[in-house]
Amino acid sequence: MNKPPTSVRRLYVLLVGYEVLPKSISTKGRGERFMMSEPICCYLLDTETGWVLLDAGFDPVYVRDPKLCHEYFHSVGVYPPIVTREDELPYQFAKLGIGFRDVGKIVVSHLHLDHVGYLKYFDHATVYIQREEHEHGFSSARPGSYFLADYDSPKIQWELKEGDWELQPGVTLLKTRGHTPGHQSAVIELPDSGIYVLPFDAGDLQENFDEEILPGESVDDADALSSIRRLNRIVRERQAKMLLFHDPVAIQRVKLAPDYYD
Ligand SMILES: [Zn+2]
Repeated sequence: MNKPPTSVRRLYVLLVGYEVLPKSISTKGRGERFMMSEPICCYLLDTETGWVLLDAGFDPVYVRDPKLCHEYFHSVGVYPPIVTREDELPYQFAKLGIGFRDVGKIVVSHLHLDHVGYLKYFDHATVYIQREEHEHGFSSARPGSYFLADYDSPKIQWELKEGDWELQPGVTLLKTRGHTPGHQSAVIELPDSGIYVLPFDAGDLQENFDEEILPGESVDDADALSSIRRLNRIVRERQAKMLLFHDPVAIQRVKLAPDYYD
């Protein structure tokens, strides 16, 4: 049976800020003496059935408001992210000539603070997440890297998924458990430039994939390693390219919005 053609026309990479952290947050057991400045991204898909957002960035209100910045970062010994005006999501949307209301579907890789910051402003969209991640995000077991205020809104229209699934032709999500209980990664098929794998936090850096290094934060090391291996296998077997979410070197070679991949 022939596969239906992809519904995706363009893939935009939006750089929405930087995090400042010890390297061991990205590479377990490696580099705790080295500070990294790692990009935070969002991905926007222009598709035949409308705009799809993959992850929702970091809300700069936590660094612009001194009280919030103290509460969420300084008081817990964490460096606040860096978000320039140009990094802000509304600014980047405006550059593309669209607004938040133009996005009908949002896929969330997991609920960490640097992936769902703007989610609360998209109460008209359907938000797709793994059931296990949703449960963890609302449980008392969630660590401080989950900012409940970003996603605990009765207005958010959740749709809970289990395991691998397809959003629409050309947009496939894979459950890549390990970094968090319900982490998922994306495989995007583009009309001309082929297949792109978006690992999100299954592996932050190229090093994670080249040397099979676990992410610094992991709820299950064996699962985290199988997720890295699975994504590597897809790249190999399907001649796919990887777009890394947090790699400060790789990001410099990425076409950033308003430029795009098609
Ligand atoms: Zn994460």
